[in-house]
Amino acid sequence: MTGRILIVDTVPTNRIVLKVKMLAAQFSVDACGSRKDAELAIAHKKPDLILINLSDPTEDRHGFCRELKENPDTAAIAIISVGVIDTARARFAALDALDALDAGADDVLPRPINDALLLARMRSLLRVRHARHELMLRDGTSRALGFEEARRNFDATARIAFLSRHTISGDALAAQLDSGLAVPVTRLETDKVLANSVAPVPDLFVIDGTQDNDGGRAVFRLISDLRSRAETRLSTLFVILPRNEPDIAAMVLDLGADDAVSLDISDGEMVLRARALVRQKLLHDKLRDTVRNGLHAAVTDPLTGLYNRRYVEPHLSHMAEQARVSQREFAVMMLDIDNFKSINDRNGHAAGDKVLIEIANRLRENLRAIDLVARIGGEEFMVAMPNTNNEQGHIAADRLRKLISAHPFSLGTDKPQLNVTMSVGVAVGGLERLNRVQIDSMCNLADEALYAAKSAGRDKVAMSERLAS
Ligand code: GH3
Ligand code: MG
Ligand code: MG
Repeated sequence: MTGRILIVDTVPTNRIVLKVKMLAAQFSVDACGSRKDAELAIAHKKPDLILINLSDPTEDRHGFCRELKENPDTAAIAIISVGVIDTARARFAALDALDALDAGADDVLPRPINDALLLARMRSLLRVRHARHELMLRDGTSRALGFEEARRNFDATARIAFLSRHTISGDALAAQLDSGLAVPVTRLETDKVLANSVAPVPDLFVIDGTQDNDGGRAVFRLISDLRSRAETRLSTLFVILPRNEPDIAAMVLDLGADDAVSLDISDGEMVLRARALVRQKLLHDKLRDTVRNGLHAAVTDPLTGLYNRRYVEPHLSHMAEQARVSQREFAVMMLDIDNFKSINDRNGHAAGDKVLIEIANRLRENLRAIDLVARIGGEEFMVAMPNTNNEQGHIAADRLRKLISAHPFSLGTDKPQLNVTMSVGVAVGGLERLNRVQIDSMCNLADEALYAAKSAGRDKVAMSERLAS
């Protein structure tokens, strides 16, 4: 994963050691020793994540973190403290004094640093940061609103579930959360959750993996399952593991958990982390809602509720700029229903409308929150996916194609079901700066690929051979 990292530590050896590790992991790195230099570095080029030694006695590092988190310009920068030596005590001291998980560090990792865990934690924080950033792109005005409201309104509406296979340890941990969060925590059995759908869907799953003794296998399976299910993919996942299992923790984070801690953290820290995760989830919900409701009829298509052509252009410009800055390509897909005219001719215009609505629903439900799906013409749709290279774009497009062809469409209980197919053309680009005209030409390339898919027989995906820039 790419990202810009700022290392803040007074000890030059610490800085150098960390910097080498970060460079090896393909991050861009700045390093400095003092708060003043750190502020200059941030003003010059905003990092995605700061690795800071919070235990430095010469400067008020906690105050520095708190200020970063309070300033809307820098609040989204993730912070990991890498300086403490005695895990539980130092962690809690920091939290106790300054509510650091809330107002400062997103995580506190002890020295000696476990590299796998540090990198997994960084990837996890950067993933959340990127997702939030993409959501904010949709509507600049939600920026201040989202942060402010999420800070104020929390507990009352949050749904928290505690997942355990072992009642005894589960009950003790769940009881700590109950009393600390002042929200009822629902107990769920892991096996039942794996076998059935969960409703209502929790905002936060706290997963008890403390007694599994299976090298993490059960927890890995559970996280992959929750992350891939439509109903729980946006829930926040907080995993509690046995002591001294940094490799399992690293894996858990890479599989998509939002936080993973070992049993040796204090009750207070567990509650604070759970609280921070719920805030993060509610903030993202809020942003999603603002995007959904606050963007006016002007940019939505009344039949399907998808964005229309007018919305696409500015959004693609944002996406292209993001792609260039993050050096992660994005994919534009043009999708066109096959032989739609004959669907209309045989079944009537109203049936055609039903097909359009069902297609819109299938697309919407099967894309990530950061992807864009729009109806750009009668039976033509466009999907834009950030952070997607050629291979991923091809896989995603084929998944969408199958989503339509694999399941027939229902036109009503007394009518026969209808088989519908769709052709898709894909263009990928964005590493170079793209102006409006070049973005248009990327869309044209996707369009040309679409026509190639049609010529190849329909119900196909075709990739644009040419680079867009
Ligand atoms: P191809 O596989 O080459 O894409 O063939 P096609 O029949 O899908 O393409 P064509 O462009 O010939 O026809 C598109 C049809 O879509 C014609 C038009 O009546 C229909 N259409 C456009 N907008 C709507 C709509 O909002 N509702 C309905 N029901 N039909 C629509
Ligand atoms: Mg068409
Ligand atoms: Mg068509």
